Amino acid sequence: MKYLLVLLTAAACLACDSTKAPRHAATSHEHEVASWPNVVMYEIFVQSYADSDGDGIGDIKGMTGKLDYLQDLGIKGIWLMPIMPSPSYHKYDVTDYYDIHPDYGTMEDFKIFLAEAHKRDIKIVIDMIINHSSNLHPWFLDSQKGEDAEYRDYYTWLTDEEIEQFSSIEKEATGDSYNVTQWHSAEGNDKKFYGFFTGMMPDLNYDNEKVREEVIEIGRYWLEDVGVDGFRLDAAKHIYEDSRVKDNRKWWKVYRAELEKVKPDNYLVGEVWDNAGFVAPFLHGLPALFNFDLAFSMLESIKREKSVTAFISEHSWEVDESISFEAGYIKNQQVYRNETTDYEDAVFLSNHDQNRILSVLGENINKGKLAASILLTMPGTPYIYYGEEIGMLGMKPDPNIREPFLWNARREDQERTEWIDPEYTTDETVVPLRIQMNDKSSIYHHYKSLIYTRNRSGALTYGDFSNAHYGNGDLISFYRKNEEDTLLIVHNLTNRLIPVQLALKDEAFKEVIFSTCDEQLNDSGFDLKPYSSIVLAGR
Ligand code: CA
Repeated sequence: MKYLLVLLTAAACLACDSTKAPRHAATSHEHEVASWPNVVMYEIFVQSYADSDGDGIGDIKGMTGKLDYLQDLGIKGIWLMPIMPSPSYHKYDVTDYYDIHPDYGTMEDFKIFLAEAHKRDIKIVIDMIINHSSNLHPWFLDSQKGEDAEYRDYYTWLTDEEIEQFSSIEKEATGDSYNVTQWHSAEGNDKKFYGFFTGMMPDLNYDNEKVREEVIEIGRYWLEDVGVDGFRLDAAKHIYEDSRVKDNRKWWKVYRAELEKVKPDNYLVGEVWDNAGFVAPFLHGLPALFNFDLAFSMLESIKREKSVTAFISEHSWEVDESISFEAGYIKNQQVYRNETTDYEDAVFLSNHDQNRILSVLGENINKGKLAASILLTMPGTPYIYYGEEIGMLGMKPDPNIREPFLWNARREDQERTEWIDPEYTTDETVVPLRIQMNDKSSIYHHYKSLIYTRNRSGALTYGDFSNAHYGNGDLISFYRKNEEDTLLIVHNLTNRLIPVQLALKDEAFKEVIFSTCDEQLNDSGFDLKPYSSIVLAGR
C-alpha cells in the first residue's frame, strides 16, 4: 500500500505545481472576529482520539492533552460523541445519564477537561441521546417486568392488536436507520415495546409527563452542575413516532424553553436527517440543525466536477443537475427563512454516520482540500469531523468511519488508540499529523490556513451569501458580504486550469486573502489552478 502515499503526494504537487503553503494574507482584521456560536466546530469520537493510559481506548485525559492542538488549529467549539455509560462501543445507548463511561474516565476528569477547554475559549457541546435509552438502562430493566412495574410507562408497550390499529410492526428503512422492525418482543411480555432503531434502543415514551421531566432534569444537570455549553440532540426527528411530526416539533420548543430557564445562552444543535422543507419547522425548537442537503450538494458538486444541487429524498439523496450549487443553497436558505430568521445553520461535509470525505472523493487529496475550501467559506457554523484535517479515510460499516486518529508515525505514536484494527486509515494510506505539520503543502496546513482566514474575517464568519455567476458550472462562485466587507470567492471544481476574467462590477476586488495554490491577480483576473480556490477582498 506504500505506493498510495507516493501517489497522493505526487497529486498534491501536480495540482498546485508547488509545495508552498496555501496563501493567506492579512485581511482587514489582524485579530479574530469569530465568536460563539459562529465558530468552527470539531466533532470528536473520544474512543478513537487520544489514549492517555495505554489501554488502547481514547479517553478524556488524552483529549484534554489535545486542546492546545485544537486551539492552534483555530477550533472554538467541540461536539463530543456520547460520553455516558453504555454497553456499546459507540455509546448511542445510554445506561446512566448522570455519569461518564469508565473507559473514558471520571466526572472529575471531565470537569477538568471542561475547565481547560473554557480557558482556551473552546465551548463544549455533548451528544444527548434522549430519544431512546439502552435496553440495559435501569428504567427499561424495570419496565419490562410487567404492567405494574414502576417505570412501565417510561416506554411504550402495545398488544399486537393495538399495533395493528395505531402503528405497524415494520417500518421503511430511512437515511438514518436501516432497521425495519420497530416493535420488539421482550421476554415474559405479551405486549411489544417500541424501538425505532433496534430492540437494544427502546424509545422513551414522551406521552408520559414523568419522562419529559426526567430528560429536562438531565439537561439541567449537564448545563448547570457540570457546566457544558450545549447539546447535540441525537435522532431529534424521532421523539414521537414519525407519523406525529407536529408533536416532535412541539416537543423541542418545550425542551428549548425549559433549558433556557437554566442557561439562557445554551446551544442546541439537532440531527433531523431530511430535506430543508421538512427540517425548517424544527428550527423553532432547535435553532441549529445539520444541513444535510448542503452536505450532499457540496460533495456531489466536487464528485461530478460540476456545480449541482442535492437534497435528501426518501431513502438517500437525489441530485438535480439543472440547479447550480449556488442557486440551490440560496433556495435552501429561503426555505429556512420562510420559517424563521432566528437560526444558526450547522454546516458539515461528513460526520460519524457518513463515509469519510476523501473516501467519497476517490482518495483525491486535492478534491479533499477543495471540499474543505467550500465548507469553510460558507455561511453558518462549520463542523469538521475529527481526522478530516489529516485526510483520514473510511467507508462503512460504521466502525471503519470512526478509526483511530494518527498523531505520529506508528512507532512514535504513544497516544494512538488501538480498540480497532483500522482498515482504511493506516500509516501506509494517511500521513500522520506530526509529519503533515512539517509539510506546508499538507491537507492539515490547508485546513489550518482556511480556519485562520475565516476566524479573522467578519464577512466569512457572519456575511450573507449571493451568487457571483462565474463559469459554466465548472466553478462555484459567490459573494460573502457583511457591513464592513464584501468578498468574492471562486472554487475550481475541475482538474483543468481555468482563466477567470473579472467582470466590470468586480473590478474592486484587488486583494487575495486566501488561495490554495498561491494564485495572484493579473490585469484581467486570475488563473485558477485545478481544484483550487481563491478569496478576494475589495479595496
Ligand atoms: Ca485509555
